[in-house]
Amino acid sequence: MSAAAPAAREAAWSELLSALRGKLAPASKLAEREALGPKTTLRVGGPARLYAEPATEADLQALLAESHARGLPVFMLGRGSNLVVPDDGVDGLVISLAHPHWQAFEPRADGRVWAGAGLRLKNLCGLAAKAGLQGFEFMEGIPATVGGALRMNAGAMGGWTFDVVDEVRLVTLAGETRAMKKAEMHVDYRHCAELGTAVALGAFLRPRAHADGEAIRRQIEAYQKKRQEAQPREPSAGCIFKNPPGTSAGRVIDECGLKGARVGGAEVSPVHANFIVNRGGATCADILALVRQVRARVKEARGIDLEPEVMLFGRNWRDVL
Ligand SMILES: Cc1cc2nc3c(=O)[nH]c(=O)nc-3n(C[C@H](O)[C@H](O)[C@H](O)COP(=O)(O)OP(=O)(O)OC[C@H]3O[C@@H](n4cnc5c(N)ncnc54)[C@H](O)[C@@H]3O)c2cc1C
Repeated sequence: MSAAAPAAREAAWSELLSALRGKLAPASKLAEREALGPKTTLRVGGPARLYAEPATEADLQALLAESHARGLPVFMLGRGSNLVVPDDGVDGLVISLAHPHWQAFEPRADGRVWAGAGLRLKNLCGLAAKAGLQGFEFMEGIPATVGGALRMNAGAMGGWTFDVVDEVRLVTLAGETRAMKKAEMHVDYRHCAELGTAVALGAFLRPRAHADGEAIRRQIEAYQKKRQEAQPREPSAGCIFKNPPGTSAGRVIDECGLKGARVGGAEVSPVHANFIVNRGGATCADILALVRQVRARVKEARGIDLEPEVMLFGRNWRDVL
């Protein structure tokens, strides 16, 4: 990079900021150098160069279009439950759909339910139980927003997010809005290809059946109990590695004797070996060092290359591993 490049980039950020200040509705939030750690479940990492919570679809479009026009990168933040934020932060525009505008839960006459991308899965499950709509119970303990769950095709208790999806509404990073049926999308284990380069606005979901709200709540409670017994309570980003073919990452890490391994404030959870927890004061550097240590030990002992399931926000794992 030439010496002039950082100055040019700073100028592009200032320009973007002034263009957006004149355009966004007063209810939309725009802030420089907003701390991201507290907005994630792992609670590590630095600030976003620019941070926005649009209150309308028009404002979201403006944020995307103005950044795109200047070649500045945009990153979506959901509940931050699958993210490790670098200690020096994210050199990009981080957009969160935290404004109530994005939290709709609307049963429709055709039997589908519209769920906004900012709606928390916990709330989705509660509202569905209240409406007597069955099929979403498996999502209750996943601490995600609908947008993040779609991007990751999050799953639990034998169910996957896309099992209940009929259609996704999205906007591309260039600002084009589109509706896509599930069959048109490329969805896999913890992955939805289309949402790698687009923002989910929400989805039409299809309940499996109508059922008694009490019966739905009992199923939710049974899943909650199972989760409480199997998962640590400390801050984490959930499972740190994807399951390798034919086995579970947690089992392999445990068999390598790594439960309780520590670097600074980061620890391989003694409760579930595929969770790295923040025991207090952990940094992103601690997490990365422990990830490298676990991968090296598992490779040496079992010949398996563990792939991270969590995302390194704004960066690529291959650049740091
Ligand atoms: C205690 C704990 C338990 C967990 N249990 C499970 C589990 O059982 N099953 C499971 O699958 N996961 C689990 N996870 C991981 C995590 O909850 C999921 O990966 C979840 O889907 C992340 O959603 P999020 O809203 O937090 O997204 P974030 O972590 O904020 O973001 C994840 C990705 O989604 C993208 N994204 C977010 N919103 C949008 C949007 N609107 N449009 C496009 N892209 C978007 C982000 O840019 C990022 O790439 C767990 C995590 C924790 C901390």
